[in-house]
Amino acid sequence: MRTSPYYAEHENLIDSVSKLVQLELAPHVAQWEKAGYFPNEVFKTLGRQGYLGILVSEQYGGSGGDYRMAGAWCEAFGELSSVGLTVAVNMHSLVISHALERFGSPSAKSRWLPKAVTGDALGAYAFTEPGAGSDLARIRTVASRRGDRWVINGSKTFITNGARADFILVLTKTDPQAGYGGFTTFVVDTQSKGFRVARTLDKLGWHASDTAELSFEDVEVDDSCILGKLGEGWGQAASNLNWERLMLTLTSLAGARMCLEASRRYAGQREAFGRTIGEFPVVAHYMREMERKIVLGESLAHRALDLLCAGGDCRNLVAMAKRMVCDDAVWIADKAIQVHGGYGYTTEFSPERWWRDLRLMPIGGGTSEIMSNIVVKELCR
Ligand SMILES: Cc1cc2nc3c(=O)[nH]c(=O)nc-3n(C[C@H](O)[C@H](O)[C@H](O)COP(=O)(O)OP(=O)(O)OC[C@H]3O[C@@H](n4cnc5c(N)ncnc54)[C@H](O)[C@@H]3O)c2cc1C
Repeated sequence: MRTSPYYAEHENLIDSVSKLVQLELAPHVAQWEKAGYFPNEVFKTLGRQGYLGILVSEQYGGSGGDYRMAGAWCEAFGELSSVGLTVAVNMHSLVISHALERFGSPSAKSRWLPKAVTGDALGAYAFTEPGAGSDLARIRTVASRRGDRWVINGSKTFITNGARADFILVLTKTDPQAGYGGFTTFVVDTQSKGFRVARTLDKLGWHASDTAELSFEDVEVDDSCILGKLGEGWGQAASNLNWERLMLTLTSLAGARMCLEASRRYAGQREAFGRTIGEFPVVAHYMREMERKIVLGESLAHRALDLLCAGGDCRNLVAMAKRMVCDDAVWIADKAIQVHGGYGYTTEFSPERWWRDLRLMPIGGGTSEIMSNIVVKELCR
């Protein structure tokens, strides 16, 4: 059961995507997770079905949908028990392509977007650096003017799709003296001389998704690669992050629901002491708590989505929702393991992967502590 901010067309999308997840993708997930990679063909399959262009306008081959449609997608696609794959797709299709369309130059948009919506060109977003995550203003990647070109030097880390991307939106400093007005984002072609995937990272979860450290050594780009105008990078990052956080929140909600469903199923079948374990009050209590947290999370996340769709300032609500839902999703996955007992600790049942995968959600896109800071700052204004 899901409270719904969605209309008939969104519910239709949710039904189709849930079927796609269960019938076409779920059967392969265990193999992809084991291999530590999912094939690019997944992007192409989604592209052929029109799912990579939800937030891209028809001019570039997308369907010109809105945040509500994208939210519905997140809640259905998030049912796949490979959060790394889910977020890799969503970052490409809902965050990066969307940012490129909003801010990119006409030539960058026509170069990358038509291929992005078919899955023939994949994108990544590179903010984080080895020395700067939450405190993004500390980034050290610089873009300096040389003749009529820009030359990028620096390194980025933890970049989703970093090893497979064809284009990367790279946050740089173009004027280190100009404070928040000194940041600029460039669209970088990964075939450019001087770009290198330094390494991919081994992780607790998200095994099917590549997370890379990237190196930029004298990578040359021209003015058409600037996202928006020179010096607008910080504002763009803030506005993109807001939507990215809501995307992660809605994806976490879907994962939490899957954990509850798995727990209900298991608790209704597993017997101990002459009854099913779901009849024991303490186990039933776990599931009631899971449901309570999901319902509360839905209320907050859907309210934030409504506000975003209405064009309101939803930064505070998104931060509240991300903090609560992403933390609760980890708790719910943990309790799902508990309900499954020893089997919950094995890879034969889904909760262990949900637990490992959902564990990133209170970290990625802004940690829970940073979300709390945003809320407190807003309260004290
Ligand atoms: C699998 C994976 C995928 C990722 N994908 C991407 C991507 O595609 N693109 C990208 O740019 N980045 C990506 N990231 C990076 C992610 O966004 C950062 O890890 C995250 O923002 C936290 O930064 P950090 O790791 O440097 O932690 P730090 O900023 O060093 O934080 C460490 C701890 O200190 C706490 N802390 C820091 N500052 C404060 C404060 N002011 N108040 C209270 N507590 C504080 C944090 O909450 C955290 O608990 C990814 C990370 C992972 C692991």
